[in-house]
Amino acid sequence: MSVSRLRVVLATRNEGKVSELRRILAAEPGLEEIGLIGLDSLPQIAEIAETGATFADNALLKARTVADRTGWPTVADDSGLTVDVLAGMPGVFSARWSGRHGDDAANLDLLIGQLSDVPGRRRGAAFVCAAAAVVPGVGEKLVEGRLTGTLLRERRGSGGFGYDPIFLPRGETRTTAEMSPAEKDAVSHRGQAFRTLAPLLRAMLVARR
Ligand code: IMP
Repeated sequence: MSVSRLRVVLATRNEGKVSELRRILAAEPGLEEIGLIGLDSLPQIAEIAETGATFADNALLKARTVADRTGWPTVADDSGLTVDVLAGMPGVFSARWSGRHGDDAANLDLLIGQLSDVPGRRRGAAFVCAAAAVVPGVGEKLVEGRLTGTLLRERRGSGGFGYDPIFLPRGETRTTAEMSPAEKDAVSHRGQAFRTLAPLLRAMLVARR
């Protein structure tokens, strides 16, 4: 059954993320024509501070807050890099590791410096994405996607963003910055999380009609 005429809010102001998730969710049968809108279209919703201790806490916090304020089905995610030798950090601090939110170059420089003496066998890390869907009057779902790999000492590739230039997925010869967007989607933490979430979201939307 198609739920194409339903509007679903994606709780982010990042237009790149909206188009990436539109692409992933549109691959789910029944969600092809979903009306996915970002928070840029809802200026009345104030910035939501990511105060959670985990990716799951933050994804649920954002999805619940926006669903409460709008009454519409809402999807949110939170993601980052967990580094084994840093006991899981930067984790929820990935976007602000160097102190300034969203300064990808400074965050990456800092991490490369912190790991400079760490030998290859202890350079394990994972990209993690928690994705939450809240459908008012129906329920909520929370899923997680994970891409494991190792961290290189120097940048390689010009694609992607954030920590991609030093992240080598397990079994791969290219960093995630050397992959095309479609190749990265196919293996990434966000791709996995949203492909798992899509049928769960669809079932909740059908239940709401
Ligand atoms: P957010 O989920 O948009 O809040 O992303 C948090 C931060 O995690 C980003 O600013 C990046 O530093 C890092 N991050 C999340 N996903 C990726 C990825 O796919 N590649 C590289 N860095 C990522």
